[in-house]
Amino acid sequence: MAKNYIDNLSEEVKKGQKESAEQGFYPAKLPYGYCRGEHKEILINEKEAAFVKAAFEFYSVGNISLRNLVKKLNDDGLKFKPKTPMIAKTTLELMLKRLFYTGFYEYKGMIYEGKYTPIISQNQFKQAQISFGKDNKPKFRHTHQFVFAGLLTCGECGCSITADIKKGQYVYYRCTNHRPCSQNNYIREEDIEIQIKKALDKIGITQKHLNSLKTALKESFSDENAYNKTQTKQISEEIEMMEARLKQMYLDKLDGNIDNDLWLEYRNKWSMEISSLKTKLEAHKTADLKYMDKGCELLDLAHQAYLLAQKGDYKNNSNILFKVLDTPTLKDGKLSYTYTKPFNLFAEGLKCTVDLGRKDSNL
Ligand SMILES: [Zn+2]
Repeated sequence: MAKNYIDNLSEEVKKGQKESAEQGFYPAKLPYGYCRGEHKEILINEKEAAFVKAAFEFYSVGNISLRNLVKKLNDDGLKFKPKTPMIAKTTLELMLKRLFYTGFYEYKGMIYEGKYTPIISQNQFKQAQISFGKDNKPKFRHTHQFVFAGLLTCGECGCSITADIKKGQYVYYRCTNHRPCSQNNYIREEDIEIQIKKALDKIGITQKHLNSLKTALKESFSDENAYNKTQTKQISEEIEMMEARLKQMYLDKLDGNIDNDLWLEYRNKWSMEISSLKTKLEAHKTADLKYMDKGCELLDLAHQAYLLAQKGDYKNNSNILFKVLDTPTLKDGKLSYTYTKPFNLFAEGLKCTVDLGRKDSNL
């Protein structure tokens, strides 16, 4: 749990940063979501920032196309601008690619850390870029209609899986065949459902499991504390080392031992690294509080996976599938997948507990 938490840290951190009146000199027009204050300082426009935040939140899940996102934002009552309440698709795309919202900006090839409040975390920005996928196009297009179409790709050629309704009621899936591929047979939705259910069964936990694991989580809290302390120390040392290195390099540059281009390249790279380490460090400081919440959240998700497998209501709960299954593929009607972290560990662990469970009625 602690390890998983650490992996997801940067998500939470930037939110708490104080709004600064100091000038983070950004010599261009500010993007949507920000405005200039009386002394030219960069301030957040709360209404617009809420729009940006929501856009990133929905898009970084990875199961919605830009077109549908435009519609969803509008349906959810989020207005882009008073005169143009519905955002244009191209504007939305530019917004979701704008580094500025993470608190960093690029100017003439240099990346600077701005002195203004970020609207979204670096992690969320990364997630959104992943959603754009290889071709800079949204990966998933069909989730609103066919629950597994946005989730699955072809196990032979990697194209997305599409769905069709046959005879007015039966849903069939098959490879879109955009690349040469021998997978052209239709797979019934029911056949996929059975396999999805099996996948969920391996990580799903019952209400009883949930309760006892939550108790165990509370008991493990002191272990996590110790882990956190060693990590904090390690990261602090790393930051010190990198800052010393950067300083040395600057001196080398002043002495004329290295040229300006090389200096810029390393300065940008290392500054970003140092900043992300600092973000990590900050997160460790608040990790004590978040640890329990995050742990409970994961356990609840494992319980939701259990309930979903029982009820089979995939259409309204596809988000659970996206959260627990990593790149599921379909080939010759057979589903292949791995679990996202830490549900891979759940699957391993539950293999053991299920065996124990037969002997031990407490489980
Ligand atoms: Zn294929």
